[in-house]
Amino acid sequence: MDLKYAGFDTKLIHAGEIEDQFGSATVPIYQTSTFRFKNAQHGADCFSGASDGYIYTRIGNPTIHALEQNIAALENGFGGIATGSGMGAITTVYMALLNGGDHIISTDAVYGPARGVLEQDFTRFHVEASFVNTADLDEIKKAIRPNSKVLYIETPANPTMQITDLVACAKIAKEHGLVLVVDNTFCTPYLQKPLDLGADVVLHSVTKFINGHADIVGGIIVTKEAALYKKIRHCMVYMGCNMDPHQAYLVLRGVKTLSLRVDRNQENAVKVADFLESHPKVAWIKYPGLKSHPQYELAKRQMMGAGSMISFGLTGGFEAGKKLMDNVHLAVLAVSLGGVETLIQHPASMTHAGVSKENKEQAGITDDLVRFSVGIENAEDIIGDLKQALDKI
Ligand SMILES: *Cc1c(COP(=O)(O)O)cnc(C)c1O
Repeated sequence: MDLKYAGFDTKLIHAGEIEDQFGSATVPIYQTSTFRFKNAQHGADCFSGASDGYIYTRIGNPTIHALEQNIAALENGFGGIATGSGMGAITTVYMALLNGGDHIISTDAVYGPARGVLEQDFTRFHVEASFVNTADLDEIKKAIRPNSKVLYIETPANPTMQITDLVACAKIAKEHGLVLVVDNTFCTPYLQKPLDLGADVVLHSVTKFINGHADIVGGIIVTKEAALYKKIRHCMVYMGCNMDPHQAYLVLRGVKTLSLRVDRNQENAVKVADFLESHPKVAWIKYPGLKSHPQYELAKRQMMGAGSMISFGLTGGFEAGKKLMDNVHLAVLAVSLGGVETLIQHPASMTHAGVSKENKEQAGITDDLVRFSVGIENAEDIIGDLKQALDKI
């Protein structure tokens, strides 16, 4: 079936499907490192590109390819490049798009290691990086230098829930010849389609919502055009950042229920956000679905839902937050997000511990910030758990 004009949910289930000799209804795990050539000529043709046969799993594999096709269809992109982790996707994109002497402009509250690897490692190759509040378009424009090559946006940003205007960024990128890269992990293509809004590259930690079951780590990159796809795929293959067939199989299984899960995650998140916003011990809350979010209108314009990530602080500051984390029973105290289970964590001491205090402050990652990833349990139970823990403070 041609899925070009099919709806999103249909693509979730069927995009990337393959027909094998046994008529398998789902994509099987092709757990093989290498592929048999029919003869010497076939082997030579696979290498030259005259045949599109598989060669070796780091280069390509049917299970991984099915996932790449699936996510590329969801993002309305040219092709997908699956990686062993979300960070594998990010470093592959950096490596493919940046030369020594180049400059990248990035969201200040970007995922911690996505910033850390630029500050601590890419500087060794003379790549320059500026981290700015990309929600303020003037800050982006001010940061542009003659050697700027990439504009890297995470929206909503992790964990400040700051939102960046993607259409405006695409315009700035175009005017200045920058490649626009968007980390779409928080929204998934179900809630936000950066390529449709003008981005050149979109990437994910599929560890989170796309797989959704907290049982693998993985990443994926989708490009809008063929040229960038080839360039980035080359880097992935040569650096060995590939996904494994078993990982790909689990992600293919997880992604089928993406819209069902995200709908429920979101429905619960709205209830949890309402509860937290009216609780006397909660000092502040950032959730794009609340009118109190400073970019509520922008969120409504570019996202097809507010998602299920909530950041908040308690009137008692970090000590109170710590007490909360030690007293919840249903919410799992763990990093990561976007699963079927509710998770709670403290970015300043956990995910963003590697970011300097000064940079954390600049990015708005305060010591009292608690990050909450709302799962698909019964909303009453999630709220009841928070309530009893808040009562203990
Ligand atoms: C988790 C995460 C990453 C990194 O992904 P891994 O799969 O852990 O390597 C990147 N970006 C965002 C927004 C994330 O939440």
